[in-house]
Amino acid sequence: MPKYKSRVIKIGKLLLGGDQPVRVQSMTQSPTMDTNTIVNEVIKLAAAGCDLVRITAANKQEAYNLKNIKNSLLKKGIFIPLVADIHFLPEAADIAAEIVEKIRINPGNYSGSHHKNKIYDEKTYQEELFQTKIKLRPLIKKCKKYGTTIRIGINHGSLSDRILYRYGNTAEGMVVSTMEFLTIFREENFNNVVISLKASNVPLMIKANLLLKDKMIKSGYNFPVHLGVTEAGNGMQGRLKAAAGIGMLLKEGFGDTIRVSLSEKSENEIPVAKKLISFFSDRNNNTPPVNTNYFSFKTNINFPYPLVISETQNTYSDITPDKLKPKLSNDKTFDKTVIQLSYKNTSYEDMVLRAAADFSYLTYKNPPAGIWITNKEVSSEKNAFLSLEILQVLGFRYSKAEFIACPTCGRTLFDVEKTLETVKNKLSTYKGVKIAVMGCIVNGPGEMADADLGMVGTVNGKVNLYLKGKQFQKNLTVGEAISLMEVLIKTHFSEKVK
Ligand code: SF4
Repeated sequence: MPKYKSRVIKIGKLLLGGDQPVRVQSMTQSPTMDTNTIVNEVIKLAAAGCDLVRITAANKQEAYNLKNIKNSLLKKGIFIPLVADIHFLPEAADIAAEIVEKIRINPGNYSGSHHKNKIYDEKTYQEELFQTKIKLRPLIKKCKKYGTTIRIGINHGSLSDRILYRYGNTAEGMVVSTMEFLTIFREENFNNVVISLKASNVPLMIKANLLLKDKMIKSGYNFPVHLGVTEAGNGMQGRLKAAAGIGMLLKEGFGDTIRVSLSEKSENEIPVAKKLISFFSDRNNNTPPVNTNYFSFKTNINFPYPLVISETQNTYSDITPDKLKPKLSNDKTFDKTVIQLSYKNTSYEDMVLRAAADFSYLTYKNPPAGIWITNKEVSSEKNAFLSLEILQVLGFRYSKAEFIACPTCGRTLFDVEKTLETVKNKLSTYKGVKIAVMGCIVNGPGEMADADLGMVGTVNGKVNLYLKGKQFQKNLTVGEAISLMEVLIKTHFSEKVK
């Protein structure tokens, strides 16, 4: 694929893009009006090695409070650039643009109208695009005046009605929306722009970013790119998703700043992000790790899904190399490939990240017939288990339920991390069902759009339950929601979980 070379932009004093190191960012989790707590969170993130910190500004009051946060940090000698996260209120963006170094906006909120059933012919489509441009102009003017950067943050599940009408909730729609905004910024001669296309579904996030890369190269655009997998969850699964999505794209030479979203304390994200950059970014003359070998061969076995191969037949593996060997063939008419990756001298935690990104990179275009991880320092059982986890993250084979969960922020209305663990313990065995745990009603429903079932925080620690994107029941305790989810899995998804 052709190489993408981004331009260098400034976020306050921080340089981003071009040959600059890939920058690490994260987000605070406390309410934005709680100035002292937010300041302490920012300090912790900066100490962990975060290069820029995002803070939610859900309304005008929160946007104004960014000034207090900024001043308090400056008094303590902390100069880390701040990013205001604006989702629904363009007025909050206007206020924040005077205070912080960067604002993140969602193009869906700058669209001319919100009529779910509106029919867009070419005329109405172009009219609305024009209205978007008119709405954006004052913000662009203000950002020019204050030297503020804008990130266009497009998430799968939050596209405008205009884009949804023509392209659906697709990777193509995400890219068209981005390109329309970039064209507006170019026409206004404003280039202090970063782009992000995120999704909780790893293959979709990769597809959108590779499409974007292609489009930007063809259009002569060179805006820096922010990478992230949204709602990745926690623990091993969160890290695997981040590595498979972000790591794969860094290997592809795409991405100037990254956020690893975990449903854990935000400072936990920083070491993972740093590892992904050091393992996979091609900047700073990084070379592929010497202890990784890739080899593949042809086989004529017709598998229903990719096999997990391991040295010993165990709970997680399907077949051993001995049993596979007689069926191997060099006959070129069979195009199925078994891929083996061998690791050594690496911790298990690091191997998890490397294997997820390596397999994601190698199998993006051609799903494998089987994958095989070897590492003599790790049991074959553990290697086979990791293979199954990777196949699920890459969407090739489902061996348990799929979980998505938001990383939490100042809008979170219940304990997402604890709830996610309970949901995982109770519902993991329901293979292939996609279950979401989201902190708030503001973004939760949109960003879990493709989940089969989801719970979203509402008032008093309660949650609303969603079935296939539609609200099913309101104001449940977490326990009630989990029990109801189990019933709904049995009644609505029995085919899937067989
Ligand atoms: S879904 Fe979660 S991370 Fe997103 S805005 Fe709501 S609470 Fe914050």
